[in-house]
Amino acid sequence: KLDEVLLSARKVLHYNLLRVFRLTDGEFELLGSDTRSDVVGEADALQAGMAVHDTRLAQSTLAVPIPRIVDIEAGDTPFRSWRGIPLLQNERPFAIVEMFHNLPHVYRSEHIWTAKAWADHLGRTILNGTRYREIQAAAFRDPLSGLYNRRYIEHLLQDETRFRRPGRMSLLMVDLDRFKEVNDEFGHAIGDQVIRKVSELMDTVFRQGDVICRYGGDEFLILLPSTPRERALAVAERFRLQVSTARIPDLEQAVTVSCGVSSLADFTAERYEELFKAADQALYLAKEGGRNQVSWCAAPGPGN
Ligand code: GH3
Ligand code: MG
Repeated sequence: KLDEVLLSARKVLHYNLLRVFRLTDGEFELLGSDTRSDVVGEADALQAGMAVHDTRLAQSTLAVPIPRIVDIEAGDTPFRSWRGIPLLQNERPFAIVEMFHNLPHVYRSEHIWTAKAWADHLGRTILNGTRYREIQAAAFRDPLSGLYNRRYIEHLLQDETRFRRPGRMSLLMVDLDRFKEVNDEFGHAIGDQVIRKVSELMDTVFRQGDVICRYGGDEFLILLPSTPRERALAVAERFRLQVSTARIPDLEQAVTVSCGVSSLADFTAERYEELFKAADQALYLAKEGGRNQVSWCAAPGPGN
């Protein structure tokens, strides 16, 4: 979308080089550029642009909507004119468009309104893209633990094409043992600390490609994409042990977890609901077996 808007600049603006920078915490990040290489050599233009960029950008007062017209004294660059247009949100610049031209005095007022209108359009595109990504990202995160949430894992599981290699995926369901007692005895704030600590441990035990999610309350779900059952069981056991020996700030007693494992290899059909049920049933077995342990279930029995 941004690329489309950038291309449309050719129709309405005059430049040999046009660049758009995102401005975050005082840092410039190049979002895109367009070079009219029919006028100046592309490599030259970019290099020259870089050379003048820092001084010009620094000199332009980014706090005003439209910096003054600036004609660059050419020196050894092919550019004679420069124009910077900051894009503002709440009166603060979040991006800047800059145009370079190889002729002097190009950026006169008759050009500026077109440029400004185009820049506004570009600004909305940038902000919409950013906002969408931020909202998307936040909607898939659990604020307390920073882990993915239930919505995310369900979103993933719907996308079946991701799991075209059955037999190499396992699911791990984790639930804190007697967590209600921790809350009752030490308070909700300490309970929250426990959830955070356990979440941190998950981040260290599981691998990069694993999807760790707080499924709800004191229950977690970890998707191990290319992990056969034996390895899933070993990882779960390592995690269980880590939790039971971890020190939790302000908590005198140890915390333990129960884990249920299921693997796609144990199923004839590629049904994720089944896989899910099996992990849940395995977890139930672990709880029944006395908690602080790992169980697995090949296929869920009827009625669960
Ligand atoms: P079990 O071993 O059978 O799992 O026992 P349990 O006490 O852990 O029982 P259960 O899993 O049903 O209880 C979950 C408890 O987790 C209930 C609730 O008080 C607590 N809980 C859920 N979400 C949060 C949270 O965000 N913060 C805190 N502090 N506690 C929570
Ligand atoms: Mg529990």
